[in-house]
Amino acid sequence: MSASSAAAPAAPAASAAPAAVAPVRTAGGAILLDGKAVAARVRAQVAAQAAAFSARYGRKPGLAVVQVGNDPASSVYVRNKRRASLEAGIESFAHDLPADTAPAQILALIGRLNADERVDGILVQLPLPVATDTNSVMDSVDPAKDVDGFHPLNTGLLAQKRPRLRPCTPWGVIRLAQEYGIALTGRTATVVGASNIVGRPMAQELLLARATVTVCHTGTRDLRAEVERAEVLVAAVGRAGFIPGEWIRPGAAVFDVGINRTAAGNLVGDVVFDTAAARAGWITPVPGGLGPMTIAMLLANTVEAAQRRKGLV
Ligand code: NAP
Repeated sequence: MSASSAAAPAAPAASAAPAAVAPVRTAGGAILLDGKAVAARVRAQVAAQAAAFSARYGRKPGLAVVQVGNDPASSVYVRNKRRASLEAGIESFAHDLPADTAPAQILALIGRLNADERVDGILVQLPLPVATDTNSVMDSVDPAKDVDGFHPLNTGLLAQKRPRLRPCTPWGVIRLAQEYGIALTGRTATVVGASNIVGRPMAQELLLARATVTVCHTGTRDLRAEVERAEVLVAAVGRAGFIPGEWIRPGAAVFDVGINRTAAGNLVGDVVFDTAAARAGWITPVPGGLGPMTIAMLLANTVEAAQRRKGLV
């Protein structure tokens, strides 16, 4: 059922604000949540803020991207983040370490980046090699430079309804919903996936937006029932086609965070797109949904971190 259908009782109401990006419908009828187009808008805003910062302080906002090892998927993400930074007028500091780097050396690098005045944001690409204690590395990042929003201080502040630097993918979901005028307040929202980097902060963001939130994980007894009553669904599991389209509540807003490569080499989400798009009101594509939004929100966080460090916000 489409977003505009009068017979779509479950559809989250559109807010009064006009959608900023011209809506395009999928063949199934749902409005496509065009992450690429919205990300371009966010990046243009970030570029303007970065230019203003540079003009005022004589240096660009700086983002250090740390990669340990050469996991191929991570290398693609890191390359994209560095390129996007440069395009937005953000200085990119590359730190590529071999996979067998001792944890003490990684911590020492983070310590130097924490102290470096030119560096406003520090991103440590995950996953780290198995021998490295990821928590101790992430905890060592100065929370004021934690542009991934993964530091316990930042996740704690989000949980206490006073967000500072917010995890990029969940923050991208919220921004996408705002851009398309999808109201979240009062809606029944289901998040499938409960990881520290997506599912949990996503639940906190939806709670902050005053949705009524259910979080599902491997301990969930009846996943289908939880998905079927969701007016807002966020899928973040990491299994291709894990959520059949038939489970989607008519008119629902579907945000598919999953990125999975099929045997044929294609990228697909966690939700079966075609059948879901025939029932949903709104749906994100994979690729072209939360992927570009995540990078855009990383850039937005970097400029925000730079501004906060100067006391501007
Ligand atoms: P993760 O750490 O592996 O977490 C997966 C979550 O799914 C866990 O909470 C797990 O439950 C749950 N789960 C697994 N099997 C399940 C099942 N049968 N029923 C219910 N829940 C189940 O993954 P992640 O890092 O959150 O990433 C999830 C997906 O999002 C991946 O495809 C990843 O590539 C993608 N991703 C995309 C972006 C982007 O920019 N678009 C950013 C980050 C991640 P338990 O907690 O019980 O184990």
